[in-house]
Amino acid sequence: VNPPTAESLQRRLERETSARRQAEALLEQKSLELFQANEALKGELAERQRSEARFRDLTELSSDWYWEQDENLRFTHLSGGSLEKGGFNPQTSLGKTRWEIPNIVMSEEQWTAHKATLVAHQPFYDLTYQQVADDGTVHYVRVSGRPILDEQGRFMGYRGTGKDITEAVHAQNRIQYLAYHDSLTELPNRAMFSELLNHAISKARRHNRRMAVLFIDLDRFKNINDTLGHEAGDTLLQEVGRRLKHTLRQSDTVARLGGDEFVVLLEEIGDARQVEKVAGKILAAVVRPFHLLGQEFRVTASIGASIYPEDGQDEQTLMKSADIAMYQAKEEGRNAFRFYSAKMDIHTFERLALESSLRRALERTEFELHYQPKRDLHSGAITGVEALLRWRHPDLGMVAPAQFISIAEETGLIVPIGKWVIKTACWQNKHWQEQGLPRMCIAVNVSARQFSEETLVQDVVSILEETGMDPDLLELEITESVVMRDPERAVKMLKELKERGIRLALDDFGTGYSSLSSLKRFPVDTIKVDRTFIRDIPGDAEDRALTQAIIAMSKTLSLTVVAEGVETKEQLEFLRQHACDEFQGYYFSKPLPAEEFARLIQTAHAEKR
Ligand code: C2E
Ligand code: MG
Ligand code: MG
Repeated sequence: VNPPTAESLQRRLERETSARRQAEALLEQKSLELFQANEALKGELAERQRSEARFRDLTELSSDWYWEQDENLRFTHLSGGSLEKGGFNPQTSLGKTRWEIPNIVMSEEQWTAHKATLVAHQPFYDLTYQQVADDGTVHYVRVSGRPILDEQGRFMGYRGTGKDITEAVHAQNRIQYLAYHDSLTELPNRAMFSELLNHAISKARRHNRRMAVLFIDLDRFKNINDTLGHEAGDTLLQEVGRRLKHTLRQSDTVARLGGDEFVVLLEEIGDARQVEKVAGKILAAVVRPFHLLGQEFRVTASIGASIYPEDGQDEQTLMKSADIAMYQAKEEGRNAFRFYSAKMDIHTFERLALESSLRRALERTEFELHYQPKRDLHSGAITGVEALLRWRHPDLGMVAPAQFISIAEETGLIVPIGKWVIKTACWQNKHWQEQGLPRMCIAVNVSARQFSEETLVQDVVSILEETGMDPDLLELEITESVVMRDPERAVKMLKELKERGIRLALDDFGTGYSSLSSLKRFPVDTIKVDRTFIRDIPGDAEDRALTQAIIAMSKTLSLTVVAEGVETKEQLEFLRQHACDEFQGYYFSKPLPAEEFARLIQTAHAEKR
């Protein structure tokens, strides 16, 4: 064997070096790949950890919880911060199906529908049910879920979320409750009563049964409210509500319609006697003394009843009939009960209906005043204004005073209404002055009943103080007939008013058959010649003579004479010739709403200048 040559050694070395280099390169390549694979794995792991953390935070922070079930629908996983809040106990729930957890409450239909969804491996959304927590509190729970399928599409179970919606449900219930209950007494309100009544009517119709509606109104509740204050009034109403409820059976309904009006529905009544008995019990319950502000009080109630089907077959008729019957009970001296009677003739019916709505017109602000100017016959200047009452009835439209003043008189309602008129007129006049209109005297009509009130003077004085109006800008119009009814008392009253600086007018003069000379006795400033005399001027000789005499007599007493109801130029001419001072009538202007009146004055004022 030849010894290796230097050459061959060199070659071998070169070969080996090259092989080693290759191996090294390969190693380097491999380790790079390994490194990269490792890095990728690390990234994946980190990403997975991140995603798990995200999920954990999500379920813990959100108001939802997360659940999983296996293919037998047993809970395998429950997580989330709000789980316990929702009344879920994970310990006792894991391993069970939803229907094996005893504190889940669902109706039979709900279960059936839910199970059908599960069998069909369908997703479900917003399934809502009650869940009773271990401590007995009831929770409302809303869950959604979707099926888990493996790569081959095989059903593996369900996963989903749940949420405690107890608060939302309670809030919703509260809103619902408030819409249907009176917040003061917690009794059903008008809206709810209306629904219950309609429901009861259809039931009674189906089963051919009778039932009764009782309208209850406290007598003189306003007095209590005014003298003791609203809080005491509220307490009284609450107590009345409680007493009514205790007096009635569970199956009867009592509601508060508003103010001091309550209504009761008696279903399944045998005969009328039974209704009477219940009404008697209610009256007795109301009349028991109340303790308010450390004092003892008594109130009474008036009750009217209507019977289905005799007195009405729909809600409206039954309510109206009961209302009218209640009003009759009031008429007959209060603290009484009356059945509605169909025997009432149409006149009474309409009158009573008008009466009962008149009683509420004030608080419902259905009244307004219109204003008719008075004009100087010679200069044409506007000398004053008369306030005339208008009633904007919700169903009947504008009702003229002639149609309701007498009812208001008989019922005494004219007293509060009259006060409102004086106050509104004073306020309006003051307001016009503040708007820059010229100073003007405003005339207000005072009725017989008002005039007989001992408190009239004091009431007027208080109103003047309250509104800050000058007494000599207020003129009270009293009709001649009222003054003549009790002249002595009238003189005394008129003097008292006069002493306060208030102006006075005798309205509708000529109709009261007082002798012209009796005018002297009354301390008035103005005489208003009744429209019926002016109407037939200048045709009727007698009216002409009388008007002339009234004017002449007034002049000797230095009274201002106003002619009412002037509609024509001829009438105006006649009056001017006979030195009448002022006139009022359609010839110049009808009674106008406040804003229109203000415009009229402004225009007249501008023309004069
Ligand atoms: P009154 O005090 O004699 O008022 C004049 C009535 O004559 C008003 O009727 C007025 O609109 C009407 N009138 C005015 N000019 C003419 C005209 O040229 N032709 C015709 N045909 N009528 C004219 P209104 O407003 O219907 O009032 C009727 C009565 O009701 C009043 O008679 C007054 O006695 C009474 N009244 C009105 N408002 C009140 C009030 O606030 N309180 C009281 N107690 N009674 C009032
Ligand atoms: Mg008048
Ligand atoms: Mg008059």
